[in-house]
Amino acid sequence: MLTPALRATKPRSDDLLAWYDRHRRDLPWRARPGETADPYRVWLSEIMLQQTTVGAVKPFYERFLERFPTVESLAEAPADAVMQAWAGLGYYSRARNLHACAKAVVENHDGRFPGTEAELLKLPGIGAYTAAAVAAIAFDRKAAAVDGNVERVVSRLFMVEEPLPKAKPIIRALTEEIVPEDRPGDFAQAVMDLGATICTPKRPACAICPWMQPCQARAAGLQETFPKKQKKETGQLRKGAAFVVLRADDSILLRTRPPQGLLGGMVEMPTSAWEPDYEPARAMVDAPIEARWKRLPGVVRHVFTHFPLELTVFLAKVPKDEPAPEDMRWTPRHQLHEEALPGAMKKVLVHALGDMPAPKAAPKAKKANA
Ligand code: SF4
Repeated sequence: MLTPALRATKPRSDDLLAWYDRHRRDLPWRARPGETADPYRVWLSEIMLQQTTVGAVKPFYERFLERFPTVESLAEAPADAVMQAWAGLGYYSRARNLHACAKAVVENHDGRFPGTEAELLKLPGIGAYTAAAVAAIAFDRKAAAVDGNVERVVSRLFMVEEPLPKAKPIIRALTEEIVPEDRPGDFAQAVMDLGATICTPKRPACAICPWMQPCQARAAGLQETFPKKQKKETGQLRKGAAFVVLRADDSILLRTRPPQGLLGGMVEMPTSAWEPDYEPARAMVDAPIEARWKRLPGVVRHVFTHFPLELTVFLAKVPKDEPAPEDMRWTPRHQLHEEALPGAMKKVLVHALGDMPAPKAAPKAKKANA
């Protein structure tokens, strides 16, 4: 893949690894120098980091690991518990795949993650990037793990003119060319760290970059123009109605979404279908129960990966003996935080009730007599 001219300016892994040894990020899932990486932790972190920032993942990762410290404990957990622990991280298909993957590792691999990209790729929810990242980081295999940070660094190093996403195979092939035989796991993490801390999207710190010399974009003064990107097409706006029912005993009406599809297995207040031409004026035909509904002013906006959504919120108060319709249930407000509510539904609750109800405070322990 590298032409002779490119080969002459090929970035040296030694330069990057020397920088990494001094400046590596201290991350909770990362093995320290001299420690052996734990494949479960590496895999868990890589799944969590898909489409989510390191800062956002850190507290979730710690809590998740406390709750499911081993792949066996995760495999044995009920699906509800996994979804609940995942709530707030978004992209919920990841949680379902995570659970399925843990079960496959326990059932088919005796609780041990396989160490090759090819075997890892056969597991649920593990795509090309994650297979390469786990093989490299957890098993020190020579693998090209190309995430967004690596795409940025490599496209700048070699001035890849092809726009993303078409450039992906080119960038992957170039990355394969620079992965060393020695310390491929550290190399993978080093390129990620370089992209996260030095070769940032805006104003990369080229002056302190260990690859300043061979970087073609830096030489041309065009760093920030790479990677080239194709214009994004945003999905069509969908609209719908969300129904918040508050019972006199301070409970909210909820239901669980079907396991497959958008937000599969997550919990929500009843809603209408979400459609581009939904008319809130005819929302009453979708209301889950007969009640005196109040249409709240404004709308709740939420952006999913493929489309933006606008929900008109309706609120009703019902007596405490109101039964839940089929496939729905009442949940006390102070227990809502235990439900796997996605971000869009939390916004609906805040819109309807003024805030996301906090858990009930535990009763204070009595002071011992002096
Ligand atoms: S020299 Fe600048 S643009 Fe090139 S890899 Fe380093 S930080 Fe990125």
